[in-house]
Amino acid sequence: MADAGTLHDAFVDELRDAYDAEKQLTKALPKLVKAARSPDLRAAFEAHLEETRGQIMRLEQIFANLGEKVRGKHCDGIAGIIEEGKAVMEEDFDEATMDACLIAAGQRAEHYEMAAYGTMVAWARAMGHAEAADLLQETLDEEKAADETLSSLAEDGINDEAASAAHADEDEDDAEVAVPARTASQSTSAKSRR
Ligand code: ZN
Ligand code: FE
Ligand code: FE
Repeated sequence: MADAGTLHDAFVDELRDAYDAEKQLTKALPKLVKAARSPDLRAAFEAHLEETRGQIMRLEQIFANLGEKVRGKHCDGIAGIIEEGKAVMEEDFDEATMDACLIAAGQRAEHYEMAAYGTMVAWARAMGHAEAADLLQETLDEEKAADETLSSLAEDGINDEAASAAHADEDEDDAEVAVPARTASQSTSAKSRR
């Protein structure tokens, strides 16, 4: 039987997984750009697409430093997250709601990547691969910043816009009291309260 794999082997596997994930994301991000209605959200996805290309180059540099072939290994995790994102894009949501859903999909991807890069940074440091650790940390910082940008876009406008379309006929304060079950405008409220 062959020798058992080491943490170094597991590390190289993680790098290959991340390499494939980033490649998948360079194909998925343009779809998010196209589907987004908020110009700021489109710009955020576009900027992260550019960063993602740089992250791929960083991984290639790490493979070279380690004397490993540049090769990806299918990342099932990000493939599943991208599938869910595609499913949401096929839904018939109003524009602000669609933007809120695209943010949700994007943040799932960023959190997955943060987990992966966090692990890789820690393993690289533990094994004394200082240069790889620094490069991976740069990418981890970009993923965290991308996640924070998406949070800001959601919390500084898009969520409120989507929420007010969802509750268009309710007062800000006492919504329950403001919208009695039966009023003269029942047909109106039935239409707008989905
Ligand atoms: Zn090693
Ligand atoms: Fe990435
Ligand atoms: Fe990312």
